[in-house]
This record gives sequence, structure tokens and C-alpha cells, in this order.
Amino acid sequence: MVSQPKWSALATAVGPAARHQVALAPYTSMRVGGPADLLVVVESAKELARAVRLARQHSAPWRVLGAGCNVLVSDGGLRGLVIINRAASVVLENREMEAESGAKLAAVAERSVNGGLGGLTWAAGLPGTVGGAVVGNAGAYGGDVADVLRSAVVLEPDGEVRERPQSWFEFRYRGSKLKGVSGIEGQRPQTDGRESSAPSGADWVILKAILELDMGDAIALRAEADEIIERRRTSHPPGPTMGSTFKNPPGDHAGRLIEQAGLKGHRIGGAQISEQHANFFINVGGATAHDVRGLIQHAQMEVARKLGVRLELEVELLGRQETA
Ligand SMILES: Cc1cc2nc3c(=O)[nH]c(=O)nc-3n(C[C@H](O)[C@H](O)[C@H](O)COP(=O)(O)OP(=O)(O)OC[C@H]3O[C@@H](n4cnc5c(N)ncnc54)[C@H](O)[C@@H]3O)c2cc1C
Repeated sequence: MVSQPKWSALATAVGPAARHQVALAPYTSMRVGGPADLLVVVESAKELARAVRLARQHSAPWRVLGAGCNVLVSDGGLRGLVIINRAASVVLENREMEAESGAKLAAVAERSVNGGLGGLTWAAGLPGTVGGAVVGNAGAYGGDVADVLRSAVVLEPDGEVRERPQSWFEFRYRGSKLKGVSGIEGQRPQTDGRESSAPSGADWVILKAILELDMGDAIALRAEADEIIERRRTSHPPGPTMGSTFKNPPGDHAGRLIEQAGLKGHRIGGAQISEQHANFFINVGGATAHDVRGLIQHAQMEVARKLGVRLELEVELLGRQETA
């Protein structure tokens, strides 16, 4: 007798777009990660909300992924339903931009620059979606999401959709109240050895963001955005990466500390600490989550041992992390 795949009733409810046992590596910027039990790609905020509601109805764990630029998915993959968010419609009216959460932040920034609107040039060329950027309060070159977000439309744990003001998100450096607790030590408790089934953002889903922009000078904004794109191109190493692995400790730079600990170029399996920028870990070919996690632990240990600084993860560890 052929056994039914797990979550087959949920798959039927989601519809023909749902696929079983899909490798997540291609859905992450690090190109690492095992299979999702079930995966669906959604193209609108309405489809996104529907998929989450169905997962809840079937008591399945679920996780929304944007571009997968800020996560390390375990080699064992993720249980339940993974929803890849490609809801990307954007409406610009006067100085207000309403963007669905799967829109690419860089594309939204480009659109604001082309419209002569300021406030988002820092996001020029920044990988990831609007939803991921809100969760992690993405920022660069002196700006961040908290500066421009007026409000966001959120699917709540009770199934209602509400518009929440900027203050509700409790933004902090590279975080908000929706960012899951992560870190080698700080992962959600899995003391009984079971897989964490914690959904994204502790159960809230961002459907849309409303950004408030300023009137600006189109030529000056273009020049500023181009300069930032060029700075990214020259300072960021090429290759599959999650961007900055660790947060910068107050008054210092994680990359500088890792370099000072003599770890530039250090390699475990297919994962390497970049020679160019030590806070960027690169998949130089065939890296596993186990390799990357080993490198994370090694960097944390060596920086603590040699320099007395505890590096805190910026990236989120998803799925059950096997011991490195
Ligand atoms: C080369 C490179 C450079 C980078 N440079 C920067 C930089 O300068 N500054 C910076 O801040 N970051 C940077 N990053 C990190 C990354 O681009 C940002 O964190 C980005 O905002 C993540 O968006 P994402 O769509 O990829 O999120 P994902 O990685 O897909 O998701 C991140 C978290 O958000 C949750 N999530 C995603 N969408 C939603 C949603 N709609 N509702 C609820 N939860 C959601 C996910 O479940 C997960 O917990 C860089 C990454 C790379 C690869």
C-alpha cells in the first residue's frame, strides 16, 4: 500500500499549486536547505492570507518566506506548509507607496527614485522582499524600514486583517516584534527534541506595507541610488550568501571582529568566511546548513575567546538544526 504524503488534505485544500517535498535551497539566497513537506508560491496578498488560513485550519506548521535572504534553512528542511511570497503589486499615489509584501524592496526603491520621491535610496539594490524587510527592520547606509513605514496591513493570529501603525512593530536595530527569536543559543525552545513548528513572526503575516516618502529631486536621488548600488557591488563579495551573518555589536563591526580573530577565508565544507568581507559567509559550492552552522559557531567561539565579544546572529535559523 502506498502511504499518503503528510498534509495531503491540506494540499488538496490549497489546490494544484501545492507541491510535496520541495527542496528549499533554490528559494534561499544561500542556496542551502532541505525540503518543505508542502510548498506553494502565492502571487497576491489574498492568496497569501488564504494559504496561511488553510494551514491554520489543518493545524499544520507554516512559514512565509520572501526571498529567503535572511534565513538559514536546516538540511532537514521545514515541516508543514512553506509559502513563497511573490505578491508584488505596488501602488504609488502622491507620496504614499502601498506595496504587497512579496514585492522586492529594491524594486520599490527604484520606483520611488524614478518618481522623484526620497526616503528609500538606502534600499537601492538591497535583496529581499518588503515583508522580510519589515520583519527584520532592514536598513543600510543610514536608513531603515522604521524611518519610512507608515503602517502595514497584517493577517493576525485571530484570522482578522488589520492595519497596524509603525509604532506597533516595536522596531529595533535589525528587528521588530515579528522577528523570531534566533541564534545558536536563542532558538525557540526545542527541549523535547521535536521539530520547532513555530510559524513566522510569532503568527502574524505582513500582507502589505504603506510607505510614506518625501518629495525629492529626481536627478539627485538617481545619483544617490546609483552610488549606493555601486558601493554594494564593490564591497559585497559575490556568490550565494545571507548577507551579514551577525549583527554589529554596539560601536563595532562584526566583520572587523571576525577578521581580527584571524578567520577570513576559514572554511568548513562548502561554506567559507569571505576573504573580502568577514561578516559574509559564502556558499562556495555544495555547502550544507550543517557546514554554515559550524562556521557560525566557530566564529562566535573564536571571537568570544580572543576578543571577549559575543556575536549575535542577524540571520534566522529555521528548522531543526542538527548539531554541528
Ligand atoms: C547580498 C546580501 C546583502 C544584504 N544586505 C543587507 C543590508 O544592507 N541590510 C539589511 O538589513 N539586510 C541585508 N541583507 C539581508 C536581507 O536582504 C534582508 O534581511 C531582507 O529584508 C530579507 O528579506 P527576505 O524577503 O529575503 O526575507 P526572508 O529571508 O524570506 O524572511 C526573513 C524572516 O521574515 C519572515 N517573513 C518574510 N516575509 C514575511 C511576511 N510577509 N510576513 C511575516 N513574516 C515574513 C520569514 O518567515 C523569516 O522569519 C542582505 C542579504 C544579502 C543576501
